[in-house]
Amino acid sequence: MKTFFNDRPNGYLETIHKGLGGVRSFPDGLVYASGNREEALSRLRGEIEKADAIVIGAGSGLSTAAGLTYSGERFECYFFDFAQKYGIQDIYSGGFYPFPDEETTWAWWARHIYFNRYVEPQKPVYRNLLSIVESKDYFVITTNVDHQFQRAGFDKQRLFYTQGDYGLLQCATPCCQKTWDNEAIIHPMVDEQRDMKIPSALIPRCPNCGGKMMPNLRSDERFVEDAGWHAAAGRYEAFEQKHDADHILYLELGVGGNTPGIIKYNFWQRVYQNENALYACLNLEESPVPQEIRDRSIIIGGDLGKILLALQA
Ligand SMILES: [Zn+2]
Repeated sequence: MKTFFNDRPNGYLETIHKGLGGVRSFPDGLVYASGNREEALSRLRGEIEKADAIVIGAGSGLSTAAGLTYSGERFECYFFDFAQKYGIQDIYSGGFYPFPDEETTWAWWARHIYFNRYVEPQKPVYRNLLSIVESKDYFVITTNVDHQFQRAGFDKQRLFYTQGDYGLLQCATPCCQKTWDNEAIIHPMVDEQRDMKIPSALIPRCPNCGGKMMPNLRSDERFVEDAGWHAAAGRYEAFEQKHDADHILYLELGVGGNTPGIIKYNFWQRVYQNENALYACLNLEESPVPQEIRDRSIIIGGDLGKILLALQA
């Protein structure tokens, strides 16, 4: 977490600081704001229509709703051999497993990346979301690393993926703040792996120093924030400043408890500070909100895919 609090000015740090500050400024505690579901849907439909701008904050629940599940059938189908040999129980935890050699490590990661980044998801949840916001002035901040916003056609200039992207590799040291597209090397790693090992010749090496590489994912202080990442962080902050006092809708989708400082707490604080702003939280389970913004909150629980379809109707 040390790197979150260095001196570099960008929208990500701004977001986290605001988020954490936000938690401290709600002494009245959290309440459940849900009411009649149809009324909530209808109110949200109206607010999407009226809003000057929409900030979407998306977490893993959105990709789960699109069918990109990390356990169960998909895991057993694509990773049954890793489950048998190493006792790994889901895709997420496999990313942290200390495999015995680089050939095995990359056999895992090639599959992990391929099935979550380079194949079409089962359900068009992201496309449906785009059709709801594409005529609006919108911006997306997401902790998802699976590239699904770009795949669905969201404008890349309106996206800030804070935690990395499965489609990028970085130096594992790292020797430089650069990332490299991995599509051309991931496909052969998937095709040519045997018995959970890729051929040694396919092990990626840092183009800059020749050392080991790793996926560009925020798991520790080695995470590389490249030029594209900083540009996106800057665009996010500029969007927030431009709409500082506007009728802005903060639309939170599938944000879980792992990283609430990045989206949820930040959205609460922004809504609290701008009396024209509104907060909407869509998730499998209904979530509580601070008492202070309760009247400007719309909470809807249930399958995100179904809720988004209902919003389009
Ligand atoms: Zn390097």
